[in-house]
Amino acid sequence: MIRIFIVGYQPDSEPWTQVSQYPQISARHKWPMDKFTGIVRSMEMISPEERTKKIEDTKPMCICPRCPTYDNCAKAQGELLFCAVGKSSCALVKKPCLCPACPVTALMGLEHAYFCVRGSEKGLRVM
Ligand code: SF4
Ligand code: SF4
Repeated sequence: MIRIFIVGYQPDSEPWTQVSQYPQISARHKWPMDKFTGIVRSMEMISPEERTKKIEDTKPMCICPRCPTYDNCAKAQGELLFCAVGKSSCALVKKPCLCPACPVTALMGLEHAYFCVRGSEKGLRVM
């Protein structure tokens, strides 16, 4: 008997969408797919409104406000979740980055840091 095992994205928790809800994804992409790529592909399957809601729902997890790089300008703008939304609109001075210790890094399988000055994870991976 031949058994085929597919290793796919298994989310730790909401609010990020499960790839398994979208079988068409696996038809277009080879498995195994890394966690972040799976999330990006699943996000492509939902509406812009749903994407915006997921981002808003995740913002409370962002620990940027505790970071030395995060300044009063970023605070005044209410900027968060740079890993998803991209660079800050403020002229931030690069100091230590807390991203590696952030729960969103583990949740989304992020590989980069300093998103506030370098741009989003998706942009840094050139996806
Ligand atoms: S990884 Fe960095 S930018 Fe993304 S939510 Fe966490 S602290 Fe914020
Ligand atoms: S992205 Fe990293 S460096 Fe920038 S404010 Fe957030 S934790 Fe700090």
